[in-house]
Amino acid sequence: VRRTAIAAARSSADPPRLTIAHPCPQCGAPVELEETDRLLACPYCRVRLLLAIDGVPRYLLPAKRAAQEEILFIPYWRIRGTLFTCRRNEMAGEVVHRLLDRTFPAVDWPGLPQSLGVRPQAMKLSHASHETPGRFCRPTVTWDRLLSLSQELPAYPGSEEEDAEAASLPSAFIGETVSLIYLPAFLRDGIYDAILDEKIAPLPPIDPTRESSFESKEGFGIRFLANLCPECGWTLSGTHDSLVVPCRGCSRAWEVKGTALRRVPLGVVHSGMRGGVLLPFWRIKAEVRGLTLRSYADLVRLANLPKVMRDEWEGRELHFWVPAFKINGAQLLRIARAVTISQPQAIADRFPEPAPGAPHPNDPFEPDDPTGPAIHPVTLPAGEADESLKMLLAEVGTPRNTILGRLREIEIKAIESRLVYIPFRAEGGEISNPEIPLAVNRNLLRYGRGL
Ligand SMILES: [Zn+2]
Ligand SMILES: [Zn+2]
Repeated sequence: VRRTAIAAARSSADPPRLTIAHPCPQCGAPVELEETDRLLACPYCRVRLLLAIDGVPRYLLPAKRAAQEEILFIPYWRIRGTLFTCRRNEMAGEVVHRLLDRTFPAVDWPGLPQSLGVRPQAMKLSHASHETPGRFCRPTVTWDRLLSLSQELPAYPGSEEEDAEAASLPSAFIGETVSLIYLPAFLRDGIYDAILDEKIAPLPPIDPTRESSFESKEGFGIRFLANLCPECGWTLSGTHDSLVVPCRGCSRAWEVKGTALRRVPLGVVHSGMRGGVLLPFWRIKAEVRGLTLRSYADLVRLANLPKVMRDEWEGRELHFWVPAFKINGAQLLRIARAVTISQPQAIADRFPEPAPGAPHPNDPFEPDDPTGPAIHPVTLPAGEADESLKMLLAEVGTPRNTILGRLREIEIKAIESRLVYIPFRAEGGEISNPEIPLAVNRNLLRYGRGL
C-alpha cells in the first residue's frame, strides 16, 4: 500500500536519484548508497556507520575500459532542489516554485557537452578517492553563477520595465543537492569520452603540465564514524537520510561536520502527547533591515492578523520557524508561515521519556508505537533554511503586493538557529497539531524525503 502511495505522489517526470556503489568498510561487501544517504547500513554484516564527506561530494561515472591514455576527469556540477521566485501580478503577488535537476560543466572549455544527460541516473557511480588513478581537472565555474546564467531563471512576458522589475525580485534555491560528477575522458587529437570511446570536443585550453589546472586528490573520499552518541554512548536515532542525528539517551543532537560529530542546539515543544511524530524545525533568530520586524507585535502587523494586539507582544522576541525537512515548495512556505505565526513558546530541552526498556523507534512512519513519538529525519540543513527567509517574508506579509515591492530593500540575516521538534498527532493520512493549528499530509512528507 505504501509503495503505491509513494508512486502516486512521485511524478513520472522526476528523474531517479543517483546510486553510488561503495564497499562496506567493515566486511567489504558491495553496498549501494543513494546520494542523500548519511548512514551506511550493511545488509551483510549489519554494521551501521555515519558517512563523513568533507566538502562537496565527488562522484565518478565509470569508464568503459582502461584506455592507453591517462584518464582525465572532467567536472560537472549537479544541482537538485527547489527554485523559489517572487512574482508580482495585477491583483497581488505570489511566490512560485519549481524543481530543478541539472548538470552543467564546471569548466568553460569550448565544445564540451552542456549536460551529462541521463547518464548519472542510469549508471552506477563511485566516490572519487585519493586512490583513483587519473587526474582531476579543477572546476573553474561556480554552480550558482551557472544557475544565474542559465535559462532556468524565469523570464517574464511584457514590457522591458516589467522585466527589469521581475529580475530584481529575489529568488532562492533551496533543498539543494550540490555535487560534482566527473566524466572520465582522455586526450588524443581532442577530448574523448572514456565511456563511449568517442571524440566529444576539441583539445581543452589548459596546460597539462601546469599543476594548478588539476586538483590534489589528498582530501578526496569518504570517511565513516561510529553511530554512537559521543556524550553518553547510546546508539543514535538517525535514519539513512538524516542530516542531524538525535540521541534519545541524553537528548542531544549531532551533525557530521568535516570528520567529527558536532553538537546541534536542540529543543522539543512541550506536549502531553504519547506516540505521534516529532517534526523538526529550524527556529531562527534573524536580523531584519529595511523593515521593522523585531517583536511578535511587528509580525502581527506585517501579517495583518485578525488579533487584538496585546501590550506584552511588543516585547516578545520573534523567531522564524522553517521546516528542517524537505517537502514540496508550496507546502514548505505554508508550514513555515503557520508555525512562524503561532510562535510556539513552551520548549523543553529533552525528548519525552520512552517507556523503560522500550526499543527506540527510529522509523518516522511507525507513529503508532506506544513507547514514544517517532522522530522525523532532518533533511534540510539550517543554511538552506536561511535562504528561504525572504520567501517566508513574502508569504507572511499582507497585502502581499506591498511587501513584494519592498523586498529588494529588505535584508534578512540569520544570527542564531536551534533545532526544535514539534509534536504532531497521527490520524489517518495526516499528522496534525491543533495548537498551531497545522495539518500535514503524510504522503507529502514521505515524498519530500525523495526531493
Ligand atoms: Zn558489512
Ligand atoms: Zn547521548
